[in-house]
Amino acid sequence: MAKSHKAEQSADPPEVQKRSALPLVALVGRPNVGKSSLFNRLAGTTKAIVDDTPGVTRDRHYEQITWNDRTFILVDTGGLETDSTSGINRLIQEQTRLAVAEAEVVLFLLDGREGILPDDREVVEILRRSGKKVYYLINKIDAPDQAARLVPPFYELGVEPLWPISSAHGRGLDEILDRVVEELPIADEPAAELPADTVGIAFVGRPNVGKSSLINRLLGEERMVVSDLPGTTRDSVDTMLQRGGKNYLLIDTAGIRRKGKVSEQVEKFSVIRALRSLERCDLAMVIIDAEEGVTEQDTKVIGYGLERGRACLVLLNKWDLIQNDRKKQQRLLSEVDRAVHFAGYAPVHKVSALTGHGLGKLFPLIDTVARQYRSKFTTAALNRILEEAVGDHPPSLHKGRRIKLYYVTQISSSPPTLIIFTNDPKAIHFSYSRFLVNRFRQALGVDQVPLRIFFRQRQRRGDSHQA
Ligand code: GDP
Ligand code: GDP
Repeated sequence: MAKSHKAEQSADPPEVQKRSALPLVALVGRPNVGKSSLFNRLAGTTKAIVDDTPGVTRDRHYEQITWNDRTFILVDTGGLETDSTSGINRLIQEQTRLAVAEAEVVLFLLDGREGILPDDREVVEILRRSGKKVYYLINKIDAPDQAARLVPPFYELGVEPLWPISSAHGRGLDEILDRVVEELPIADEPAAELPADTVGIAFVGRPNVGKSSLINRLLGEERMVVSDLPGTTRDSVDTMLQRGGKNYLLIDTAGIRRKGKVSEQVEKFSVIRALRSLERCDLAMVIIDAEEGVTEQDTKVIGYGLERGRACLVLLNKWDLIQNDRKKQQRLLSEVDRAVHFAGYAPVHKVSALTGHGLGKLFPLIDTVARQYRSKFTTAALNRILEEAVGDHPPSLHKGRRIKLYYVTQISSSPPTLIIFTNDPKAIHFSYSRFLVNRFRQALGVDQVPLRIFFRQRQRRGDSHQA
């Protein structure tokens, strides 16, 4: 049987995420060539994760893919929001430039049935000049006998090789994936040893929300030791900060601290940069311009951080601009509510980089979040909570059969992740797992970071008991 093209899935919890930047593979091409079909085919179906973030609108434009034991992030550039208002043609070019600037490998899709259109030629030009590794995929070659007829016209583009594929039928994709993962750089080792207990913080937010003002203001505080460390990807520079005996790593601050280093073009697509930073952080500091409000991009970034199990802190910057405007405040807060709907635990904090409002409370807030994020609990304490919860509210019968929850143990922190052993993991209703998550949150005092619970099959208590 052919290998599935899906990101590896299992009922087991994900490995504890390594805090390294994953390589990026970008899909580019005109609308309707089949980018999202290919993306979905490669990404597979939604992973069955049972935690307290059910129904989170999965961002269908970024997905982590594992193939041959190599992992990368696939980005469908067609799904990215850009500022371009000047039509499709400009849009594809911008998306292509973005892919070229940020991705390790580019997959350029052409439509085998439509042939070459002028937009395709422009994209090929950009890709050729970039020097990036590009795969030219001729899509919609649904049967082998179609290749001989539909592929040759594309040789006119002067690029080789051409890969006939069918996103709809999954043809030719194994070969592409095999090649792509071979092409990916091995993640660089972190350039410098970090002190233990360093909190990795990613400042993310659209251009002009006040990221650099905030960071510079924070770094300008007294009693702070600041040093630059090369980050783990090209052009990224992290800032190490010591304050009150604690260590903070501000991730990829190069372009933020020193304006102008990152080109306008790249800044515009700050979302990709944000993704990369999110991969490496413990805490996503999502900065929103209080006057502008929440954008779709902000919501996506929050959703992505959530999926990756990062802690999240929402900063409403420029609060000074709306501090006397009740209406605007209300509108903003309800927008924020909607954006963090599935991350209700994420603290929302009002600040002003201009006046300093709220900044004094920021580090204590970060410390609380970081402490919760890393917390570890004994199995005995967890089992007590489970017993009480089940005593108060046992799970309902499933097809006439009793669901048993045997015991619980913490398999990782950052974020705290629990496994409950049960006779029937699939029978546990979402509302019941929600109930358990809330009980554990309350009892453990974990209210500002994600808390995940997974259920795993176990026949009977007393079976070989893994730690
Ligand atoms: P995007 O705009 O580039 O993301 O393109 P979509 O993935 O939305 O696909 C556009 C259309 O092409 C849809 O109607 C798809 O069903 C169709 N399509 C995509 N891939 C294939 C393919 O491999 N074969 C055929 N026959 N149709 C395809
Ligand atoms: P970045 O692109 O996210 O790094 O944003 P900047 O830090 O460059 O800020 C963009 C603009 O917003 C600048 O003109 C800042 O002076 C202004 N700004 C930043 N923070 C505040 C704030 O809290 N209040 C007000 N009124 N303006 C701010």
